[in-house]
Amino acid sequence: MRIAYSAARTIVEHAAARSPREACGLLAGKGALISLALPVANAAAMPEQEFALAPDEQLRGLKEIDERGLDWLGVYHSHPVSPPIPSQSDRSGAVDSALLQLIVSLENPKPRLKLWRIDGATVLPLELDFAGAPSTDDAGELTSNQRLGMLAAGLLSVLALLAMAMALLPPTP
Ligand SMILES: [Zn+2]
Repeated sequence: MRIAYSAARTIVEHAAARSPREACGLLAGKGALISLALPVANAAAMPEQEFALAPDEQLRGLKEIDERGLDWLGVYHSHPVSPPIPSQSDRSGAVDSALLQLIVSLENPKPRLKLWRIDGATVLPLELDFAGAPSTDDAGELTSNQRLGMLAAGLLSVLALLAMAMALLPPTP
């Protein structure tokens, strides 16, 4: 799978704004490209530890995805202080294995994005690459450039994390 820079930036900025609570939202696009991330309020009872898409905002988001002619590809959420690895709550909450699960971790100064498919007890890490160039709107904006630098560095760590995550995962029954 690939994700557009603009969508990745939306996710990282949303996660940073909500920390120490978890941020969540919808992923949309076509085929193997995630081109849009739509923030949704976290309606979980303990938003520091888990997430639940607010139903009304989720419906509004799904409508917007439809209006833009895109497909609903998955869900993203943040882990403010832990690695981007699905928690027990994430596993039990992922009821539709057709939906991708993206987790952004703010555990380290460099945000890390990790993509998963959760199918029952099976948690599968997926490859995630960045697509396209940074938007020209960001030229000259130091803060945006810095964020993009962080994202690029985060991408490099994804490969290392992939190996680490697989080692950390318990064997599936
Ligand atoms: Zn989680």
